[in-house]
Amino acid sequence: MIPYGRQEINEDDISAVVRVLRSDFLTQGPEVPEFERELGAYVGARHCVAMNSATSALHAACAALGVTAGDIVWTSAISFVASANCAVFLGATVEFIDVNPITGNISLDALELMLVEARRERRLPKVVIPVHLAGQPVDMAKISNLASEFGFRVIEDASHALGAAFDGELVGSGLYSDVCVFSFHPVKMVTTGEGGMATTNSRELLERMQRFRSHGITRDSNFARTPVDGDWFYDMIELGYNYRMTDIFAALGRSQLNRLDQFVARRKEVAGQYQEALRNSSCIPLEQHALAESSWHLFVVLVEDASRRKSVFDHLRQEGYLVNVHYRPIYRQFFYAERSRQLPMDFPGAESYYSRAISLPMYPSLEKHHVEKVVNLLNSSPGHQAIF
Ligand SMILES: *Cc1c(COP(=O)(O)O)cnc(C)c1O
Repeated sequence: MIPYGRQEINEDDISAVVRVLRSDFLTQGPEVPEFERELGAYVGARHCVAMNSATSALHAACAALGVTAGDIVWTSAISFVASANCAVFLGATVEFIDVNPITGNISLDALELMLVEARRERRLPKVVIPVHLAGQPVDMAKISNLASEFGFRVIEDASHALGAAFDGELVGSGLYSDVCVFSFHPVKMVTTGEGGMATTNSRELLERMQRFRSHGITRDSNFARTPVDGDWFYDMIELGYNYRMTDIFAALGRSQLNRLDQFVARRKEVAGQYQEALRNSSCIPLEQHALAESSWHLFVVLVEDASRRKSVFDHLRQEGYLVNVHYRPIYRQFFYAERSRQLPMDFPGAESYYSRAISLPMYPSLEKHHVEKVVNLLNSSPGHQAIF
């Protein structure tokens, strides 16, 4: 069985974890702050907050930006549900932005049209959460301009995009957003088992996310709201959660981060092999922006004729290639469909993308003969027509 994605664990990773298990601290020791420092240095962000998942980090980022009941938050129609759930946790209403049908990333034209209309209706979003789908970054400079013009804040859901860049700028540097969030789930770019990280250049957002991660508690008398009565003192000044990462996980993350460049280079190589093998196929890889350097978390193809997607998908699965679909549009999920005033017909881009997309196996150790086999299966699937 060949999965669509998987982790790469080596002896260094195992030793790093064992070292923590033999040490004094399984959590809240030195590993988490070191992991935060190293990841911040890598992406070029001033501050990082490690958490137990990207979902937690997205929740903390929304809370730090003041998202609350009655607010409106926008995200991409094509993403994992966590990109939207993070705002609903805080009582906000989520609305979805249509995507470009051949990249799967939010359409900046659709976003601008929605903003103009929302301004007229006085229902502008407080926060917009763009998603760098499959590892291809969205043009954040353009989103940052729209953010200034329309007065919203920006959280990047970069769960797929650690190691990706746009116009030479690494995702996570925070040049064009308030907070950027990465995931360390095993299928993502580097793993901690479960885990996530928020990056920011704002000291204030850092402090808020740190408190949110640990019950809303501060030990700093500058932030405390009740008098310090001894060295045991701490003050819970707001409601928070236990979203902390363990030192065991952080040690694994640090060890993995050492190989991030290698992972990205190998994924890029695999993507090149797919692109080459698919040149005469009617299955088309997602279009890449000329300035985008994808981290290639996923390799998505669009089946030319949507009516054949299911048979192509089933054929690959029957042959032991565990292809997937990323993603079923969030507005089609029961929870959102029931609440939303938006309908599938409002999303021509997402509907087209969703009807045609298949994620092929993609991970650093995937071998070339698997790539060739996958493409042969795509081309020989029932109903498929080669275009030689
Ligand atoms: C994986 C993923 C998440 C959630 O990450 P977790 O670390 O599993 O919580 C959020 N958004 C997107 C786009 C993802 O792919």
